[in-house]
Amino acid sequence: MYKSPRGTADILPGEQHYWRYIESKASEVCRLYGYQRVDTPVFEEAGLFTRSIGEGTDIVTKEMYTFQDQSGNDLALRPEGTAPVCRAYLEHGMDNVPQPVKLFYFAAIFRYERPQAGRYRQHYQFGCEAIGEASPTLDAEVIDMAWRFFSLLGLREFSLQLNSIGCRICRPKHLEALRQYYAGQAGGLCQDCTTRLEKNTLRLLDCKKPFCQAAADRAPKSSDYLCQECSEHFEHVKTYLKTAAIPFRVNHRLVRGLDYYTRTVFEIHPPEEAAQSALGGGGRYDNLIEQLGGKPTPAIGFATGMERIVLNLKKQQIAVPELPRLKLFIACLGEEAKLEAIRLASQLRQQGIPVLLSAGDRSLKAQLRQANGYGVDYTAIIGEDEVKSHTLTLRTMATSEQQSIAASKLVELLE
Ligand code: AMP
Repeated sequence: MYKSPRGTADILPGEQHYWRYIESKASEVCRLYGYQRVDTPVFEEAGLFTRSIGEGTDIVTKEMYTFQDQSGNDLALRPEGTAPVCRAYLEHGMDNVPQPVKLFYFAAIFRYERPQAGRYRQHYQFGCEAIGEASPTLDAEVIDMAWRFFSLLGLREFSLQLNSIGCRICRPKHLEALRQYYAGQAGGLCQDCTTRLEKNTLRLLDCKKPFCQAAADRAPKSSDYLCQECSEHFEHVKTYLKTAAIPFRVNHRLVRGLDYYTRTVFEIHPPEEAAQSALGGGGRYDNLIEQLGGKPTPAIGFATGMERIVLNLKKQQIAVPELPRLKLFIACLGEEAKLEAIRLASQLRQQGIPVLLSAGDRSLKAQLRQANGYGVDYTAIIGEDEVKSHTLTLRTMATSEQQSIAASKLVELLE
């Protein structure tokens, strides 16, 4: 028997209401903040990601699903949503329409990671990107939108962590200070951090290993190395968040896993904080569009993992509306009744009323059992007598009560 590949999951009908709920709240929040939906392909040229996410990042070095197609093109399954949206922004000349361009997406994301609770090799993200505006007001608005989204979902006690990792001008000074600091710790770092020291210094700060965490706590803080513009930007973001009454904690170890971030970075965490628990995160990426061949264009975005939201909705026992159930099953006995049942089902569907039509030639008892199994409220029974008299027998499943009605009255009754 085949199984779904390790780290992937089927979303079965019984779970779908969580997903539709998240999508509807996400779409609602996007409407409130003026974001429009965009869908990009599941795979892209691999270079798009290596260029933007960064050659030294875990995603690029260890986690990308890359492959060559029959023509020898190097492609990759999308390991994140921002670079494809920026590629689309440039490809379709969205730099020529009023800025910022605000886009959102639901996308399957692929990363070859070690599967565990809340961490999969295929997961889904809801993300949004606001491209073409440098003001800290937009940073605060994106964070405000993320905050409102989790509130609208009904989640409780989530918290916001904030940091600024500076820009091209000030970050090198911070990185140099980090290298000097970590050079003195080299013997005691984990294998990954020893590599990071060379290739991805900033990521030393968010290593999850306890010893490395202690070293990271004492490490030079990016906020102490910000240039004046970055420092002012960060102060504005904090002031705007306070004005919007959004509580936050500055976490100087928050750096995020992708190289393209500049200035503001943030994450939203659920109450019980585990190493891999972030509900969502984002930040500014003021150099990315330029890196992808566009003119310098500031931008900021946010993404959240939908599986983690489902986990937290369940953990917090939030009542999520069920999807509408089918109300009516049509049972029939005999060949003529079957034709009548087909006609009736077609008529009802024509009028927008969903029905389940019995197929096969089961006994009435078996058909009623089937109807019960589907959980419908009513079963319309059509037999020889009903065909002759243009009626049907309507059975209320909960009480087993039956009444004979004119077939033409069914719609009225159901409504
Ligand atoms: P990132 O693109 O790494 O910033 O991730 C954004 C959000 O997606 C995270 O905060 C998580 O909620 C979710 N996420 C990231 N990686 C995974 C994964 N492997 N499995 C499930 N959710 C994930």
